[in-house]
Amino acid sequence: MPEILEIEYYRQLAEGALDRRIASVFVDEYAGRGGRPGMDPEVVLPGLSFVAANRRGKLLLLETEGPTLGMRFGMTGGLLLDGLAGIDALRYGPGTYEERWIRAAVQFEDGGALLLHDPRRLGRLIIDPDVDALGPDALNLTLRELREALGSRAGRGGPPLKARLLDQAKVAGIGNLLADEILWRAGIDPTRSSTSLDDAELRRLHRCTRRVLDQLFERGGSHTGDHMVARHPGGRCPKDGAELFRATVGGRTTYWCPEHQR
Ligand SMILES: [Zn+2]
Repeated sequence: MPEILEIEYYRQLAEGALDRRIASVFVDEYAGRGGRPGMDPEVVLPGLSFVAANRRGKLLLLETEGPTLGMRFGMTGGLLLDGLAGIDALRYGPGTYEERWIRAAVQFEDGGALLLHDPRRLGRLIIDPDVDALGPDALNLTLRELREALGSRAGRGGPPLKARLLDQAKVAGIGNLLADEILWRAGIDPTRSSTSLDDAELRRLHRCTRRVLDQLFERGGSHTGDHMVARHPGGRCPKDGAELFRATVGGRTTYWCPEHQR
């Protein structure tokens, strides 16, 4: 699944689509689902140009002089521009690219195109998506924003910490694998209440979030974290050798270490 780092690569690729007049747009029945009434990309985009490529969490935002095109990539969505893929090695090895998996295309007057390639059909194109429904972006998350996302200690209770980290309305851009990696590095149990962290733990969680994202970015993807090697039944913690626990937390399969994640 594309995580926030892949979407940031897509955003960087999409900068090559700026200031090019849009000739036509194609969106298939899947990629067009969930669009706003009267806001069909095929109708509103031709004649305009993208002027900025932004991102909030996993939502790519291509601004024009008028409406903004939002792109979501679901489980398997990839972005191609003029035949170049946002991430070559991950998704476009031999046999992983097929013409029939092109769900949407923005054709430019200069002959190039921006394409959504998506075998699983969960990617979406939405005009003027509700960006305010998303929390602060994980790549630029401040300590204060993280504190607010987890809820006040006075509030008590609250959902499991991991569920809160996955809630895109609280923090935008942390997916299942990243959440496990961050909590494993921070040494914090994912099933604890989101409001139970003391100040030192909160700082550690913030530091680890920044560090995991920075390091994975340097390595070129989000599927190469240290915790990943043990992410299977019977897997053992790379830090201390304890057998990892596995359970569903926040609706997602979660692995954590009973020894050092407290
Ligand atoms: Zn451990």
